[in-house]
Amino acid sequence: MSRLFRTEGIILKSIKLNEADKIVTIFTKDYGKIKGIVKGVRKTRSQFGSSMENLTIIKLLAYKGKNLITISQSEIINSFFSQSKDLFRYGLAIHCSKIIDKLSAEEDPNPKLYELFQNLLFLLNDEQNPTLLVESFKWKLLTILGFQPELKKCVYCHNLAKKDEYYIFDIPRGGVSCFNCLNGTGRYQIKITYYLLRLLQRILVVDLIDIHNKSLSPIILSELSKIADLFLNFHFEIENRSKYFLKSCYLKK
Ligand SMILES: [Zn+2]
Repeated sequence: MSRLFRTEGIILKSIKLNEADKIVTIFTKDYGKIKGIVKGVRKTRSQFGSSMENLTIIKLLAYKGKNLITISQSEIINSFFSQSKDLFRYGLAIHCSKIIDKLSAEEDPNPKLYELFQNLLFLLNDEQNPTLLVESFKWKLLTILGFQPELKKCVYCHNLAKKDEYYIFDIPRGGVSCFNCLNGTGRYQIKITYYLLRLLQRILVVDLIDIHNKSLSPIILSELSKIADLFLNFHFEIENRSKYFLKSCYLKK
């Protein structure tokens, strides 16, 4: 990274440092995740305005010092936060930003992942099926990061997954098992239908835009969420806090 650099990025996290300044975590297009100080951002007449709010997409100019990155200018490209008055979508987007924050290393560029996250934020705004979009995002993100689940062959006997009625998604093994190899279910061994298996296979190969606004039965949606949440929880200790967040929002009403 050069000492003075320009890039664009998405705000993942913004933490108050003192009366005037903040530390922000930004997922950038060219440098991956970076942490930087934003001076004077908490003052009323700050030049940064609302550009450092969570999920805002910005153009930025920053300076890398010996131990610290300082964000010196920013310009809003798209403010998901101010556009989205919908707490459900906002909760989902925050959940996705936490997954990105947890699974990406600092200053490790991943333009594919950046594009995926940016597309998610744009599509989520007017998505008719936000849960499907977000669950698809999770599997696509895992695939980009090299944690693609095995969905073509049984993870034990390696036979091709044919059109059987049911399969077991073995979370610790990271893929599906046929009923010959594993016929019991458990907390991390989930029975799935052939339909769900085909859906997961399709999610891995198509773009998010092709999943946008597709309809699906609530049962399939809830199975899809369950598997992704268990997978992220078992392998990366990530909890789907958006569910608690949403619960608390409804309780406050
Ligand atoms: Zn098998």
